[in-house]
Amino acid sequence: MPLAVLDITQFGMPGPVALAIVALLGYVVGRIRRHAPPASEAQARREIKRAQGVAKNLEAIAQDIRKDLARHRASLDRFKVRVDQLGNEHNDEAWKQLCTEAEEIIGPTMYLATQLAHCYDQIRQQTHHLLTFSEVRTDPLTGICNRRAMDDTLGSLVAMKNRYNMGFSLAIFDIDHFKRINDEQGHLGGDKVIRSVAQLIEETARDTDVVTRYGGEEFVVIMPQTELRGACVFSERMRTRVMQQLGVTVSGGVTSAMGDGETAHAIIERADAAMYAAKQAGRNCTFLHDGTKIQRQSPMTADENAAFDNAVLAEKARHELDEVETATAG
Ligand code: GH3
Ligand code: MG
Ligand code: MG
Repeated sequence: MPLAVLDITQFGMPGPVALAIVALLGYVVGRIRRHAPPASEAQARREIKRAQGVAKNLEAIAQDIRKDLARHRASLDRFKVRVDQLGNEHNDEAWKQLCTEAEEIIGPTMYLATQLAHCYDQIRQQTHHLLTFSEVRTDPLTGICNRRAMDDTLGSLVAMKNRYNMGFSLAIFDIDHFKRINDEQGHLGGDKVIRSVAQLIEETARDTDVVTRYGGEEFVVIMPQTELRGACVFSERMRTRVMQQLGVTVSGGVTSAMGDGETAHAIIERADAAMYAAKQAGRNCTFLHDGTKIQRQSPMTADENAAFDNAVLAEKARHELDEVETATAG
């Protein structure tokens, strides 16, 4: 659904949640308008796609809350009617019954409180996504997210993993023999290679993934709600594309969040160890760390390749549909 069609007021949700959502959507729209003319058309399109993705997520969150609230409201209304009925009676049995009903209401109330807390966490996570638009979180050389954006996103996802078991994966890519590239092509030539690799990763990653320049010629891709195998398929595809399209190679390390209170630092260290193993194995390959061992990734099967292509095509079709909807709504 395009941003213009989203009607927050219809959800009947608690005021602070509605305000948070309105503020975020206002931020997205303002951000998109402020940004014209964009650095590049492709980058602007990507920002709008990301904003639309965020809006969709917020809408889904809001709808969930609305349903829970409606259910809870109905049981509270019934309870109120009962209290009114019993107001004039001195019937012990009836009062016992009322107490039982009151206890039955406590359960859903506690559940609702948890849901609201969950909702605020999700909104906070979406805020981090939105903040990646901001200049202070953008790497000036490549235009992708910088280290600060990565730290914030990762912190938020680790909190979500530890509290609600919402998983994510992370991949690190490092350009092979980059010192040699700098020597042969000069520092400006090296910069151009860094920009090309960044752009290709941005194009290959999903809209919901956060692509960051982690260091000089190192990139980190954070993939929310992605299993380890899915992240491995992505990183193998990434490695192959870089080799085929840019004439340089990268080595990659992949891992998933394991929960149990682990820190962002522990996740990065695992991915880094896998990437180091890829370098040791001769470069231009990707390794995974499954929490206990590091191993070379098996090549993608034909089915996985086809599934990847289909997912990319479906996403493109969805985006085109969104653009048509946005154009007709505006
Ligand atoms: P390896 O295959 O082991 O990764 O070898 P490497 O040569 O890539 O080694 P390393 O990662 O240690 O070297 C990275 C080099 O990248 C060192 C530094 O001079 C260069 N570098 C770091 N930031 C930039 C940058 O912004 N632009 C350019 N052109 N070079 C950079
Ligand atoms: Mg390096
Ligand atoms: Mg390197």
